[in-house]
Amino acid sequence: MIIMVIITQKGEVTVFKMGPQAFGKILYPVHAFFIDGLLIDTGSRTAHRHIKNIWKNYSIHAIINTHWHEDHIGNNNYLQNTRNLPIYAHEADIPMITNAKDQKYWLYERLSWGIPKGSRVLPLSSKFQTDNYTFEIIHTPGHTPGHICLYEPENKILFSGDLFFGTRITYLRNFETFGEQLDALKKILNYDFTTLFCSFRGIIDDPKPKIRKKIAFMENLRQKVLVLAEQGFSEKKIQKEILGRENYMYYMSSGDFSKRHVISRILHENSLNKH
Ligand SMILES: [Zn+2]
Repeated sequence: MIIMVIITQKGEVTVFKMGPQAFGKILYPVHAFFIDGLLIDTGSRTAHRHIKNIWKNYSIHAIINTHWHEDHIGNNNYLQNTRNLPIYAHEADIPMITNAKDQKYWLYERLSWGIPKGSRVLPLSSKFQTDNYTFEIIHTPGHTPGHICLYEPENKILFSGDLFFGTRITYLRNFETFGEQLDALKKILNYDFTTLFCSFRGIIDDPKPKIRKKIAFMENLRQKVLVLAEQGFSEKKIQKEILGRENYMYYMSSGDFSKRHVISRILHENSLNKH
């Protein structure tokens, strides 16, 4: 598999986009970001050969992982061993980063991103200080238990990890929750930012209307699911009515990205709320 890395600059932030290449484009990209000595996520292990030469030119003082997934921590081990860097993450995701190679990875994940080696990680507190900026660490669980966003008020920027992804997401992965992600999206709207740095989509200008659109989409979806459930529809029937059949993402990921997960999580979380 050929891996490609594209570097762009947005204000104070250097953006590293990486992923498997096809027809001159990056398929399934992941982004890492550099600002003021801080590297936010370390990309995938499959990009290692390319990225290690690029990062030689950057004076990285610390690393923060937005969450434990393999495409965000792939070069932790290398950077820590060669530069003795401190790595930070939310405490809930630390065990998975420390024991990265023992986690369960789907075939498509292993092929696209590779399996990361473990690294030593310190717990984040609510603020993180670099030479020139103070970042606010916002706990935004749902995609993983310890997922975080980073907010920097002077530049009015927010690093959103895998929280945003897109406005109309019709699948959930095996481990994800629905309500927590919805709450997390509402939570970040309370911060004053004009640029979003999304790990999947990269730079998003004027992001708040898009986040609001995503929230409305999710709330509407939940409402529709609960109405049909109230009428006695089965999970399968609800999926067929509202989201239709599984698409190529389901087959590509061996069932990890699934519309059925959306329906079952909404119903399950609703039943928990009732009790
Ligand atoms: Zn992720």
